[in-house]
Amino acid sequence: MESDPPTVHAFAGSILDRRAELRGSGRKTRAVRLAGDKAVVEVRDSGKHQLALFEAAGGMCVHLGIGPDGDAIVAEETKPCELPEGQAFIDLRSLAMQGLLARGELAMLAQARSLLSWHASHRFCANCGEPTQMAEHGYRRDCGRCKAQHFPRTDPVAIVAVRRRSLCLLGRGHAFLPGMYSALAGFIEPGESIEEAARRELFEETGVVVGSVRYHSSQPWPFPSSLMIGLLAEGLSDEIRLDASEIADARWFTRAEIELMFAERHPQGLRLPKPAAIAHSLIREAAGIE
Ligand SMILES: [Zn+2]
Repeated sequence: MESDPPTVHAFAGSILDRRAELRGSGRKTRAVRLAGDKAVVEVRDSGKHQLALFEAAGGMCVHLGIGPDGDAIVAEETKPCELPEGQAFIDLRSLAMQGLLARGELAMLAQARSLLSWHASHRFCANCGEPTQMAEHGYRRDCGRCKAQHFPRTDPVAIVAVRRRSLCLLGRGHAFLPGMYSALAGFIEPGESIEEAARRELFEETGVVVGSVRYHSSQPWPFPSSLMIGLLAEGLSDEIRLDASEIADARWFTRAEIELMFAERHPQGLRLPKPAAIAHSLIREAAGIE
C-alpha cells in the first residue's frame, strides 16, 4: 500500500458538499455563470482571481453542491455580454494552466461545464426522440413520452506514460502546439478494461507492446466530460511503427531530454504539458524526476 496522499489535479478537489440528498437544500442559492468554456470571474490585480457568484436568475440551472457557508451553489449558462468593471469571462483552460483560481473554485467550474454541456446536447430522448425535461436538480433528464430516464455521462480516457529501461515513450497529436509532446491517450471502449484500453491504444498508435499497467491518479477534464485515468506502463518492445492517421509523432525520450523539455531548454524547442495537466505528473513519475 502506498502511504502518500493521493495526487489532486486541476479541476478536481471541489470545496462543495456534493451529496445527492442535499440537492434542493441550502441557506440561499448563488450561481456561477458560464458562456461555453468561459466563466465569469472577479479579476484581481494579484493574478489570483475569484469566482463570481450571482443571485440565481431563476431560469435553467444545475445544482453543484452546498458551499462551506451553507449556501447552495448552482450553475447557469449565460451568453457572452458586457460585464461590470472588475469582472471578466475567462476560459477554463486558461484558468487552469495559469493557476488563476483556487483549486476548489476551478473544480466547481469543471462540474458546471460538464453538466451544462450535457443538458445542452441531450434535449431529446435517445430512445424515442421526444423532448426531455431536467429532473433531480440537473442530474437526470426524463422523457414524458416513453418514461426513459437519462443520466449525465462521463467518458473515461486512458492516458499512459510508458517506461522501458531508462526511456519514456511520448507522442504528439496532430492538433498539438508546435514542439509539444505528451503521454499518449485514448478513450476506453465499451467492454474493455482500463488496462486493455491502454495496451490497445499504445499498440495501435505506436506499435509498442505494453506489459504491466499501474494506476497513478485521475483528473476530470471538462471538455466536455472526460475523466483522464492516468497510468504508468511498462514497454516490452522498442520499435515504433507510427499510425500517422492517429498521431503526428512518437519517440523514446531520455530523462535528460525530459528535464530539458520541462525547463523549456530543449535544443529542438520540444516541450511538455504544464503542471495543471495530469500528463505532467505522469511524465515526471515515469522519468523518475522528483
Ligand atoms: Zn422517450
